[in-house]
Amino acid sequence: MPIEKIWLDKYRDAGGCCVYCRRDLLADEDAYMSGELDHLIPREAGGPDTPENKVLACSVCNNLKGTFNPTANALVKTAMIDAAREFISKQRATKARDLAGYKDALKRPNKALEPTTTSVTSPAAQEPRQL
Ligand SMILES: [Zn+2]
Repeated sequence: MPIEKIWLDKYRDAGGCCVYCRRDLLADEDAYMSGELDHLIPREAGGPDTPENKVLACSVCNNLKGTFNPTANALVKTAMIDAAREFISKQRATKARDLAGYKDALKRPNKALEPTTTSVTSPAAQEPRQL
């Protein structure tokens, strides 16, 4: 696949790292394949599909950011990235609690893994995310 200018520009802008979590997206093939161009201001919020509105992000951060609109918290691009990073950090904390729930559940006898209305649900069984 040929090198694309926008990707090269974004790798340069971000030093090859996700602008939110700073994961090195050029460290190896898995990291490279998780690289995405996030619309800093989501298209749903009127963000333009322009290079200026795109930032290099890993797929996890891009997914966790969803349709979070940083313009409510900031007007300058760097401050918008900071606002989005803070939002993503809170989303990561929620996922960390979910992960801990799964790990705890797997430590219990199989009988305790029977689904209940209050147990942790599988990601596929959760309500559709609002992106
Ligand atoms: Zn990231």
